[in-house]
Amino acid sequence: MHSVRIITLGSHPRDVSLDLLARGIRDILSLDSVIEPIPLDIDAALDPSRKQYHSTELLASLVELESSGEHRVLGITPYDLFIPVLTFVFGQAQLNNRAALFSTFRLHNEFYGLPHSPARLEERCLKEGLHELGHTFGLRHCMELPCVMNSSTYVEDIDLKPADFCLHCREHLRSVC
Ligand SMILES: [Zn+2]
Ligand SMILES: [Zn+2]
Repeated sequence: MHSVRIITLGSHPRDVSLDLLARGIRDILSLDSVIEPIPLDIDAALDPSRKQYHSTELLASLVELESSGEHRVLGITPYDLFIPVLTFVFGQAQLNNRAALFSTFRLHNEFYGLPHSPARLEERCLKEGLHELGHTFGLRHCMELPCVMNSSTYVEDIDLKPADFCLHCREHLRSVC
């Protein structure tokens, strides 16, 4: 039985309840989470010219933290993430391995000039968390429309998909979780 270590990167994301995230992960994936109180220092992953953090480097530090490989680590950060070939990423994960992370930077309505919505923010966080954790359990992007493993380029894509896995992905998860 796996469990999830939820680790904040840099600082605690504003207006996000990690308890709600943990509850959502338990409801949908039947995995217990442990919320770790001390944020991981991420200064080394900052690209000063882009004012963004290198997602792959952060993933590597999460892997190091979980050397036993017994648990999944889910990092969450308020800062914007990138990989060199893209202007930004919402998150990143290791396929079939232990580390995943996502950023809340572009999950806030305010980022798009829209009114603050705590419910929307929580929902997007849960979807991102489930999606990235899904990759760690070997799931690739899914073409089924009602599935959280759909890939998301824009925040609208995140809003369109449910906070749940399709039957096919769920079947796979049942065999590995
Ligand atoms: Zn993905
Ligand atoms: Zn699916």
